[in-house]
Amino acid sequence: MGTYKRLPVAFTYGAGAWLFDEQGNRYLDALSGLAVCGLGHAHPAVTRAVAEQAGRLIHTSNLYQVPLQEQLAEELCAVSGMGKVFFNNSGAEANETAIKICRKYGHDRGLATPQIVVMEGSFHGRTLATLTATAGGKQQESFAPLPQGFLRVPYNDADALGTLAGANSDIVAVMLEPIQGEGGIIIPEPGYLQQVARICRDHGWLLAVDEVQTGLCRTGRWFACQHDEVLPDVMTLAKSLANGVPIGACLAAGEAAATLTPGSHGSTFGGNPLAARAALAVLEVMRGQRLDQRAAELGATMLDGFRERLDSLDGVREIRGRGMMFGLEMEQDCGELVRLALERRLLINVTRGNVVRLLPPLIISDEEAEQIVAGVSDLITSYLSGH
Ligand code: PLP
Repeated sequence: MGTYKRLPVAFTYGAGAWLFDEQGNRYLDALSGLAVCGLGHAHPAVTRAVAEQAGRLIHTSNLYQVPLQEQLAEELCAVSGMGKVFFNNSGAEANETAIKICRKYGHDRGLATPQIVVMEGSFHGRTLATLTATAGGKQQESFAPLPQGFLRVPYNDADALGTLAGANSDIVAVMLEPIQGEGGIIIPEPGYLQQVARICRDHGWLLAVDEVQTGLCRTGRWFACQHDEVLPDVMTLAKSLANGVPIGACLAAGEAAATLTPGSHGSTFGGNPLAARAALAVLEVMRGQRLDQRAAELGATMLDGFRERLDSLDGVREIRGRGMMFGLEMEQDCGELVRLALERRLLINVTRGNVVRLLPPLIISDEEAEQIVAGVSDLITSYLSGH
């Protein structure tokens, strides 16, 4: 339906950090299919798991026990500290589940119109409820009437949240990204999440953390909220969980984990044997190769590299990043960099109009990381100098 302005290239196969087009040209992928292919393309462990599982059993429905799904839930809970999991097929769906948990938590407390506090600059998906939770007026106006029940405060501003707490007794939860991805790789001050968690605890609200983009080693910890030592009540995952096989997950702890009851939620495909098996393979590689540590170390080296090459350039506003998640903010809109990068066989993204967003695979070599740093820095340097 033309909802995407597609770039003039089609890829036919991939290997690690590289994608190959129909003519056999190779491109260095610094985006990982929008933070999905954390293990790179055609990772042998994922390929093997998917092929084997496809030959055995793809789907049975959630009417029956699904041992692979149960195993995946256990492994996700072990690594995150959460208690239970509901499986979906995408990030937006996982967030819908989170929103339903927060609302039902409120109804269980006798609130008829429970409110969820969301953030300016946020992105939570494209379904009606997640679109409403997402910041940004224009996209929302075309789809009115929107669901009710969301309040918005500035991101990275615990005082604003505290003030709202005194003014509204219908609030049941706060939902936020620990680092805003689509919003421009916005990294809050250290301690911010702790403060939000404290406000939530003091008021009996749930803290729902959207780790769809940041989760699963991307930022140098298993989950970005762990940088602030925060254990949320609800956590959503998707994107890199099965390295490209569609899956989403809503994890919950404590009381939040007991909120959904039989019949209150469901999914035909969610957590089917194929997706669960792929995700189990991903987790095994992440654990075995300590990709959390690798992302922290390599990410820090790459960030230094970008800063060395770009920080002093006119037209560059800020270079920021955490782990393998980078935002190179320009003074002016720079969307055309995506096409210019493609001409240099480099895959990047621009978000918020002026932020070059890079989300390279976590498995890249030191040499490939250097190629990304040098390639992107050269591109920006020549773009800003007008050639
Ligand atoms: N939440 C966050 C933080 C995201 O970055 C995204 C996608 O970019 C989503 C939710 C939506 O995920 P999906 O496109 O799988 O529905």
